[in-house]
Amino acid sequence: MTALAKCPDCGCSRGDLHEWFCSEEICPFCHGLMRSCRCIHTVLRLSTNESRVVDQFMDDSVEPLKTIVARWKTELQAKGRISFGGR
Ligand SMILES: [Zn+2]
Ligand SMILES: [Zn+2]
Repeated sequence: MTALAKCPDCGCSRGDLHEWFCSEEICPFCHGLMRSCRCIHTVLRLSTNESRVVDQFMDDSVEPLKTIVARWKTELQAKGRISFGGR
């Protein structure tokens, strides 16, 4: 881990939770960077169509991605999100 006092992406302080979907956030399921892991697909057991939506659509303010992102946030909170600089 780095010794930075603030997250270089979302600017949160050490020990705080990142902004949602900050590129530095660690996935609590695989402990890899969430931006590059595939847990949203496996944890939510997304259908082929839903997986394609996640891979292609960038705007999570519109359906169907909005609902998928809401489900993912629920799973992350249930699992326990990882704060910046901590585990
Ligand atoms: Zn961050
Ligand atoms: Zn993951």
